[in-house]
Amino acid sequence: MAGIYIHIPFCKQRCTYCDFYKEIVSAEQQTEEFVHALVKEMHLRKTYLNGEKITTIYFGGGTPSVLNFNQFKKIFENIYHIFSVDKNAEITMEANPDDLTVEYLSSLSPLPFNRLSIGIQSFNNHHLKFINRRHDARQAKEAVMNARKYGFNNISIDLIYGLPGQTLNDWKKQLEEAFTLHVEHISAYGLTYEEGTVLWQQRNNGLIRVTDDEVTLEMFDFMRLKMKENRFEAYEISNYAQPGFRSRHNSAYWQFIPYFGLGPSAHSFDGKSRQWNAASVKDYLKNIAENKVFFEKEIVTEQNFYNELIMVSLRTSEGIDLKMLKKKFGKEMYDYCLLNAENQIKSKNLVYNNDRLYFSNSGIHLANLVIMELMKTD
Ligand code: SF4
Repeated sequence: MAGIYIHIPFCKQRCTYCDFYKEIVSAEQQTEEFVHALVKEMHLRKTYLNGEKITTIYFGGGTPSVLNFNQFKKIFENIYHIFSVDKNAEITMEANPDDLTVEYLSSLSPLPFNRLSIGIQSFNNHHLKFINRRHDARQAKEAVMNARKYGFNNISIDLIYGLPGQTLNDWKKQLEEAFTLHVEHISAYGLTYEEGTVLWQQRNNGLIRVTDDEVTLEMFDFMRLKMKENRFEAYEISNYAQPGFRSRHNSAYWQFIPYFGLGPSAHSFDGKSRQWNAASVKDYLKNIAENKVFFEKEIVTEQNFYNELIMVSLRTSEGIDLKMLKKKFGKEMYDYCLLNAENQIKSKNLVYNNDRLYFSNSGIHLANLVIMELMKTD
């Protein structure tokens, strides 16, 4: 069992908060060359997953919806030729709302996509403009309706809260709008100011009003309450799903299932080591064309593995499976974990139940601090 992640590193314009690796696409020629290199990479690394069955495929970005039908067709033909893909595989495409026109969705119909992740972020046109999104609220809603028309019954939308100047009332309205769309999955992220982004500069230059941490926490609590009322299960700090609609691809990351990452800046994991491709389209294309090494690699040490497990498991509703931790890292690390968790259990930030450790409703507010406390640092 394994996953494939394909990074499409192009966007039509730059959102002010984004630090994902992407370049501004200027011509179709650029994406043609890229798809050619991507297919070559697939063949060069075809043994990476040791013949494991592919159960999820995820096109992320950047903006995968800058590719056209023929480009996707070529990628899928090669995937299905090289790998054994499960017939029930979850196949997701991230898309920008303004790309999801009737014409585009109709052109994609023959392809095996069965899940869409739509980057809506907000239904407030003022906020959308401020963060330099390409779409408006009308296009966001139309995108979901068009996707339904073309048979998608597994739709996720992304939302951001804590935008500059955003009030709790505004966030309540965003959630109401989201629930009227009856999507199966919502990913909702608190805004972070990533170094080097336009938003980060705007904050440093005092050009924006940063939302108070207290208000952001109120937004988070309100969201969790409303998600529950609307039958969304909070299966990870930022991810909410209707029953049976958790993201299988992301859940596999959190369970350390191997995955094969293709494209510039994409990461791969084979169970023992991680590797990541050059975060530059230019270097990626050049090195692939010349059959040169285009990635870096590291063996995951036991300490790093342990820390990653703490970090990702605690963010999920299931929390840390201590039985599994003991089996994987031995009694010493199991005791170390419980010893470090002791204060947090006493302070009621963590719940210790049935050989699992997970956040209490109040502890989740201190997620980063608690996670740091449980990690091994020497
Ligand atoms: S479309 Fe997505 S990847 Fe591209 S700049 Fe905006 S947030 Fe970043």
